[in-house]
Amino acid sequence: MENKEFTNFIHDIIDEDNESGKHGGRVQTRFPPEPNGYLHIGHAKSICLNFGTAIKYGGKCNLRFDDTNPSKEEDEYVRSIREDVHWLGFDWAEREFYASDYFEELYEFAVELIKLGKAYVCELSATEIREFHGTLKEPGKPSPWRERSIEENLELFERMRSGEFEEGKYTLRAKIDMSSPNMHMRDPVIYRIMYAHHHRTGNKWCIYPMYDFTHCLSDSLERITHSLCTLEFEVHRPLYDWFLDELEVFHSRQIEFARLNLTYTVMSKRKLLMLVKEGYVSGWDDPRMPTICGLRRRGYTPESIREFCDRIGVAKRDSMVDLALLEHCLRDHLNKIAPRYMAVLNPLKVIIDNYPADKTEYLEAINNPEDPDAGSRMVPFSREIYIEREDFMEDAPKKFYRLTPGSEVRLRYAYFIQCENVVKDAEGNILEIHCTYDPASSGGNSPDGRKVKATLHWVSIPTAFKAEVRHFDNLLTVSDPATEDKDFLELINKDSLHILENCPMEPALKDLKAGERIQFERIGYYCVDSKDSAPEKPVFNRTVGLKDEWARMQNR
Ligand code: ATP
Ligand code: MG
Repeated sequence: MENKEFTNFIHDIIDEDNESGKHGGRVQTRFPPEPNGYLHIGHAKSICLNFGTAIKYGGKCNLRFDDTNPSKEEDEYVRSIREDVHWLGFDWAEREFYASDYFEELYEFAVELIKLGKAYVCELSATEIREFHGTLKEPGKPSPWRERSIEENLELFERMRSGEFEEGKYTLRAKIDMSSPNMHMRDPVIYRIMYAHHHRTGNKWCIYPMYDFTHCLSDSLERITHSLCTLEFEVHRPLYDWFLDELEVFHSRQIEFARLNLTYTVMSKRKLLMLVKEGYVSGWDDPRMPTICGLRRRGYTPESIREFCDRIGVAKRDSMVDLALLEHCLRDHLNKIAPRYMAVLNPLKVIIDNYPADKTEYLEAINNPEDPDAGSRMVPFSREIYIEREDFMEDAPKKFYRLTPGSEVRLRYAYFIQCENVVKDAEGNILEIHCTYDPASSGGNSPDGRKVKATLHWVSIPTAFKAEVRHFDNLLTVSDPATEDKDFLELINKDSLHILENCPMEPALKDLKAGERIQFERIGYYCVDSKDSAPEKPVFNRTVGLKDEWARMQNR
């Protein structure tokens, strides 16, 4: 998976560190998800960056669950995160860590800070802490408990741990600078009392460390050389450095990069959870979700997601990436790997009058013209077939090159046919059309150099099997919800799922297995849904259409 081209400003920093011998050439990164939701495409960027960087430098990348908030975290999320990182193609070997594994060490670090006179037990309530905090223009006010003696702080902190106090009664705060222009440096809370069950430590602890305190020290304990995080942590960096400097421990370097934003996509776990809880989607793995499991169920390949992450690069400024680029990467990969089959989504019956009524012949069809190794299969053909309703027009404009009365088209891998007449019901709806075929055009080859302007896909009726096909639209009606002053729930596309029932398909499609990716010729890429399919009863999800919006935009 090594990618020699893969380079960015973070790699420039690592190169400098390696040249100066800062870590003796060692490169250690980590991917630190909070197990409070499923991973999404934004996390994929971070995963590719962290694991990809370690691979590039022959280093290591840890998987660390940042599980310091007991009330929101669940094992279900831990399992899904492991599965998704593996699926993306990365491995952390035995280096699976949990911030909660460090609770004892973190407690000792906090005691150390108290002993250094750099932390104190505070009795202000959460509201009071906010009031004392000041604003960007005004300095904060020191807590009345700021000058407690070290002995008293040590004693109170120990009693906090042993469960003597109710929630909210005390906090432990770093003693930094209440007038710092950086609000995060105004004596941040580093421990709070919480009587909550933790998914790993159970009821052992009733005090829990805060993120800023935990993260830098977890990095330090794991000897992370380069701690890569998203831009919103830039203002936390002085605090990150402060803890490591005061405690004189291994100093990891935090480097921030821009998070991924995608058009028509929400990425916040809080919002994704809302979509799941309020039933806007069927679950975290709904094929419309930007979660890794949703993309997987939709038919995305790990290769296409990694390629996308490579192509968007890593920058220091936030930007919006067009969903069309992600789809372009996907289409590019599927074009190479997905075998092609024929299915008709909106069937119109065609009767080929001069073809024998009792005959079925098997015609050779190429599985993937892009992949010579993909071979071929035999597709049944007979007198009665389906074509797409859109491929026929009775009163066609000049530019309509497909089937019209009197015109000739090619049936892929089969024959040239010509429309002779149209059968309608009393209301004038077309029921079926009658055609004739040219037996000399077998295999779809022109018998005499005669040209046709269109090649249609088709499905033979007697051997067809019928399946459900699901089409999806974007979950959002606007490309950038952040710029709208409407509530996010009002921006949800209520019509993002379209189910097509009983679509006729060639028989080979019946045996596809869950997760298999294919192309329906001339229509798009699809995959067999991994949840709702049964043996011989596949349900097809539309993965992506054939039209490349991205390429079109680039050529404009
Ligand atoms: P969310 O805002 O979606 O809830 P988060 O940042 O709280 O995400 P974490 O579980 O803390 O989620 O994220 C794990 C790692 O993934 C962090 O290092 C975070 O910076 C990174 N990450 C999260 N979202 C994105 C994104 N959109 N682009 C790039 N990296 C991201
Ligand atoms: Mg987070």
